[in-house]
Amino acid sequence: MSKIRVRFAPSPTGPLHIGGARSALFNYLLAAKAGGDFILRMEDTDRERSTPESEENIKDSLRWLGIQWNEGIDVGGPYAPYRQMERLDTYQKVAEQLIAEGKAYYCYCSEAEIEEERQAQLAKGETPRYSGRCRHLTAEERAEKEAQGIKPVVRFAVPPGQDIVIEDQVRGRVVFQSDGEGDFILMKSDGIPTYHFAVVVDDHLMQITHIVRAEEHLSNTPRQLLLYEALGWEKPVFAHVSLILGKDRSKMSKRHGSVSVTNYRDQGYLPQALVNFLALLGWAPEEKKELFTMEELIAEFSLSRVSKSPAVFDLDKLKWLNGQYLHQLDLDQVVAGITPYLDDSMTQNTASLQLLAATLQNHLLCFSDVKEFMPLIQGELPQWDAECAAIMQKEQVPGLLCLFAKSLFALPEMTPEEVKKTLKACGKELGVKGADLFMPVRIAATGMQHGPDIDKLIALMGKNVLDQRLTESFARLQIIKSW
Ligand code: GLU
Ligand code: ZN
Repeated sequence: MSKIRVRFAPSPTGPLHIGGARSALFNYLLAAKAGGDFILRMEDTDRERSTPESEENIKDSLRWLGIQWNEGIDVGGPYAPYRQMERLDTYQKVAEQLIAEGKAYYCYCSEAEIEEERQAQLAKGETPRYSGRCRHLTAEERAEKEAQGIKPVVRFAVPPGQDIVIEDQVRGRVVFQSDGEGDFILMKSDGIPTYHFAVVVDDHLMQITHIVRAEEHLSNTPRQLLLYEALGWEKPVFAHVSLILGKDRSKMSKRHGSVSVTNYRDQGYLPQALVNFLALLGWAPEEKKELFTMEELIAEFSLSRVSKSPAVFDLDKLKWLNGQYLHQLDLDQVVAGITPYLDDSMTQNTASLQLLAATLQNHLLCFSDVKEFMPLIQGELPQWDAECAAIMQKEQVPGLLCLFAKSLFALPEMTPEEVKKTLKACGKELGVKGADLFMPVRIAATGMQHGPDIDKLIALMGKNVLDQRLTESFARLQIIKSW
């Protein structure tokens, strides 16, 4: 068998979406496993909607995910250029060849005429499609239209009465009828090809062997197969990967969470977690296991284990996976990861930033979660809920808090070790232990019953904040502070 060559061919009309990233990943895995080539091509023929920013976003997203292309835009390769707008001559030549062979023709119909035809078909209850009325224009009729200055489109002459069979690697055998297709446009009057035409020409010329793409393109495949047939070109293998649905089973959209890859990056997700998550959106590993590195995915991925039922996007699962990876990181990676979400007061002191990272690492599912923990150590003491308030009414609380504050504020420095020692000593002196000892301190210092290690939180908040918070707790309890 020839070398596997796959491509990811996005239209740069917006940021890279989760669905596109999954298609790119599956293609990448397929190529990497077989030692094949993965090509990145830009299908930028929609001139109104294509932007350089989108192209940059797509490249950045792929690189961030660790999906590298070894041929295509930026890196070049034997079939350059890899942007469709730089390949217009190529499409023109193939279109002319089809016209010369009588397999395509110029159509001079105006939009108004096409619309009129469409309305008439709809009125008769027919599926609207181009009637083919320009198929048989005589040379004279054509010359007349040209003389009027009408710029034609090029249409493909769809052969009637044919079964079009797709042996899809994911969906199995799918059969369409050529009679369902009107003569579709290959080249628009401005010399720009349509998607169907450009994609076939490029996939053939770039020697693509496997086309792995989203299910929404299945219905485009019959037209593309007709073109392969007409051009006498060998057909690639097709695999149409199922839709991604939200948890409510409707098509994945912004309502279900962010849809662009860079959004996840900006929220502090890890690329290795997103890759792992995307791989499991439709692909099922042989062994019952959830965590896969890119190397493991490359080794284990196969199209035969890609499901044809829709994949459900479960944000909680992504968070869980991300947490698994985040908890394994080295401390400096956590420091670097949380820094963008912190204000300067927190990031200037390296030692406390490291302490913060160490304190929170196992409590974070993604880096931006760090923001949710900051009220524990910064600003006003949060309000107590009824349970906290009840705990604070206990008898031992005033004496304990006074002693704790006095002992702690006498120390030159408040390290987690010192805080721990002090708390223990207070307990011993007062004969209080366990939850009776640390819970009132936790609630007085952080306003909550739960959270990361209290000795670390207290060390992180520092004397000023702790003093303010204990003072506030005393005020709430209506006791006079005595430190
Ligand atoms: N440019 C098309 C898209 O972004 C490519 C589809 C295909 O892979 O054939 O949807
Ligand atoms: Zn026409």
